[in-house]
Amino acid sequence: MLKKILITGAAGFLGSHLCDRFIKEGYHVIGMDNLITGDLKNIEHLFKLEQFEYYHHDVTTFVHVPGKLDYILHFASPASPIDYLKIPIQTLKVGALGTHNLLGLAKEKGARLLIASTSEVYGDPLVHPQTEEYYGNVNTIGPRGVYDEAKRFQESITMAYNRFHSLETRIVRIFNTYGPRMRLNDGRVIPAFMGQALRGEDLTVFGDGSQTRSFCYVDDQVEGIYRLLLSDYDLPVNIGNPHEITIRDFAEEIIKLTGTTQKVIYKDLPKDDPMQRQPDISKAKELLGWEPKVGREEGMRKTFEYFKTLSQEDLKRTAH
Ligand code: NAD
Ligand code: UDP
Repeated sequence: MLKKILITGAAGFLGSHLCDRFIKEGYHVIGMDNLITGDLKNIEHLFKLEQFEYYHHDVTTFVHVPGKLDYILHFASPASPIDYLKIPIQTLKVGALGTHNLLGLAKEKGARLLIASTSEVYGDPLVHPQTEEYYGNVNTIGPRGVYDEAKRFQESITMAYNRFHSLETRIVRIFNTYGPRMRLNDGRVIPAFMGQALRGEDLTVFGDGSQTRSFCYVDDQVEGIYRLLLSDYDLPVNIGNPHEITIRDFAEEIIKLTGTTQKVIYKDLPKDDPMQRQPDISKAKELLGWEPKVGREEGMRKTFEYFKTLSQEDLKRTAH
């Protein structure tokens, strides 16, 4: 009998790539989503497979799955600042109530649960690069607090179930990840810059662009998550690419890659936008034998190829 895995947020960017990976590994995959930020197009190629089922469901309400379940990946949550500022209550609920429901389901089924946490638990970090031991610097009542605190609560309740109910749990702290199937208008910097380049608009850098990020290609991220799920380590693990760049330099790279003749323009920096971010991945290297393989040049090229396949219609519709 095939191992059975439930993946929440399956129609989203990361969830859909995880569905592909677990199908490829021979699992029976149940994808669950309410499509609040996702798109069925990301998983429609799986609908013809016997190994795949799709449940349209909001995980903030009671989650039921018939039969046995071996693993659960909880990836449902708005993930871009634009999304979670637009739907702050749903963001808090899916991290809190949604996680509680999935922990309950995992306990009921005796399944192992992996939750998608984030580098945002470190807030605007005062320690650089960020190790898993750093407690973070988060503004609980700022606009980003709805996401950061939901994820921090998610980690706490997961560890409580781990300790109190001896549930098998895993926590991945994901750092900025990109690739095909990101939504063009989700507001994150890569779709934003690529969409602008394709529409012939100037690239909007927020603030003076001296803030940094470290971008991880989706295939590397999925490999890290896969290894963590199957490992026996239950404390948080950073998965990301430590190659750090300022947003200003990054905009220049995108201009070169896309061949756009547009220029960079500067806009206000959003409140509490972290000034620096780089994962310390020593733990992932040591425990999982994992490190990223895809460099930014190759990853960005593949991502741009994907965005180029979108129609002019899509491009117009997704301008913001
Ligand atoms: P995404 O918006 O593409 O996917 C999220 C999916 O969750 C969407 O399909 C959405 O419809 C679904 N969803 C949201 N609320 C739901 C609910 N209540 N019930 C059912 N489905 C719901 O975002 P993503 O980039 O794929 O992120 C996936 C997960 O990874 C999120 O938990 C996010 O916090 C985490 N993460 C992602 C990144 C990244 O760089 N992509 C970084 C850190 C953490
Ligand atoms: N950013 C930008 N222009 C944009 C979108 C984002 O300069 O059009 C900046 C944003 O202020 C942040 C960085 O790019 O400093 C990464 O933003 P993103 O939303 O991708 O992710 P996060 O802030 O969650 O890391």
